[in-house]
Amino acid sequence: MTQRSFAELGVAEPLQRALRAENYTHPTPIQDQAIPQLLAGKDLLGIAQTGTGKTAAFALPILQHLSANRPSDERSAGGQGERGGKEQRGGRNRRGPAPRALILAPTRELALQIGESFRTYGRHLPLRHTVILGGVSQHSQVRALSNGVDVLVATPGRLLDLHEQGHARLGQISHLVLDEADLMLDMGFLRDVRKIMAALPAKRQTMLFSATMPPDVARLAAEILSDPLRVEVSPRTITVEQVDQRVFFIDTAHKRALLSHLLQDADMSRVIVFMRTKRGASRLAEQLEKSGFPTEAIHGNKTQSARQSALAQFRNGRARILVATDVAARGIDISSVSHVVNYEMPNIPEGYVHRIGRTARAGAGGIALSFCDASEHAFLRSIERLTKQPIAVVENHPHRSAAAAKGQIPPPPGRSGPQRRDASGPSRPSNHRFASGGNAPQRQTSPEGPTSNGAKPKRQGYSGERTAPGGAAPGAYRPDRKRRPRRRVSAT
Ligand code: AMP
Repeated sequence: MTQRSFAELGVAEPLQRALRAENYTHPTPIQDQAIPQLLAGKDLLGIAQTGTGKTAAFALPILQHLSANRPSDERSAGGQGERGGKEQRGGRNRRGPAPRALILAPTRELALQIGESFRTYGRHLPLRHTVILGGVSQHSQVRALSNGVDVLVATPGRLLDLHEQGHARLGQISHLVLDEADLMLDMGFLRDVRKIMAALPAKRQTMLFSATMPPDVARLAAEILSDPLRVEVSPRTITVEQVDQRVFFIDTAHKRALLSHLLQDADMSRVIVFMRTKRGASRLAEQLEKSGFPTEAIHGNKTQSARQSALAQFRNGRARILVATDVAARGIDISSVSHVVNYEMPNIPEGYVHRIGRTARAGAGGIALSFCDASEHAFLRSIERLTKQPIAVVENHPHRSAAAAKGQIPPPPGRSGPQRRDASGPSRPSNHRFASGGNAPQRQTSPEGPTSNGAKPKRQGYSGERTAPGGAAPGAYRPDRKRRPRRRVSAT
């Protein structure tokens, strides 16, 4: 949180009232930096992810602008350039106002969350919003558009459909937000986004948010933003270093048995299990449920209402486990996740950081357990290259892979040793070996290990560029004992 108040940033009273009701006492760093400039009409490039308060950073200025500049005749709507043709299909000429702000989000969950935020922050303003997303009937969405809205939150595919059918009028958009642009491009939405952009007025305020800035996102940003303010913030609570990370080397066939074994530990109270595929996620969720673990699943093959209900069950604690694919889980704000399990290693290393970030909300450290089979060693190496942290290996568990048993695990990046040396499991303190400076064998790490130089490791955030823990030599895994209460994972 920052020193300035929302009033000092120029946020109008009705919005301040809504924020007080939410107990937002002070702006988050991204809000502090972005809001005054956005109120002044600047474009924005925000490098930030969920958890930083980015939604309010763009929603508050948009709501304030829209309420200050209400069209004189709301019912006439449509406006110049939108009369006739497709935009007036069906002979309707008394539609409600055309949207003036458009927020594009890659996933349905994120779109709904953003819609909720507009409802919350705008509750004392006479503005309307609606959420347009795929996977549900378009009927009510068409009706909402026809009645008129000020703010339109949408996933690109459905918005484009409705625009092509003449239901979504885009000619009055004065504010555009592209949220989670990196995920948007990963999901193949670039063409849809470009088509939508082509239908928007050239004169508008544009904001682009992305957790990372790969070249294709940077290119898109350069294309659509005009002299933007660039704001880069670390997540409020998440650092790679804060998460207690372990890897289990295991054969694919034994992963389920290992998971069931670990779940005997009551400390694993609220667990997200990540899978790479929708089918895998479905199957695993069914198997866990059959084994007596209350489980829900979210992935792209589920209907919207099934996903919402799964999330609700997990949030309210009725489901102890949520099995998820990366895309379905991105951007969802779920607090107090005790453990993240990478049942399948993510093939994109940034995905690992996003996944494990789910277990470090609210400043508390979480635990991330990765199951790595022989086909996934390369993924593990890319992850370690990105985070610049070797992940501590749990050696003593009942399902060790044959390769691990024979010492054939490849070393972490940057080490030329013939094999990866394992550290012992967290429940076997007597077997712990510690990193101890330059000659330390690789991966001789432990949750209780001191730093190589005895210094307390500095806390360090990440934002796109991941960094090693402050002061730590690459290769040393250094959990921060002071801040994180010790949690034990039963490994044997
Ligand atoms: P976001 O990054 O927009 O998804 O926001 C993450 C969480 O932070 C949401 O639950 C918001 O309600 C909350 N939040 C946003 N801004 C503030 C603030 N200034 N003070 C407290 N909580 C906030």
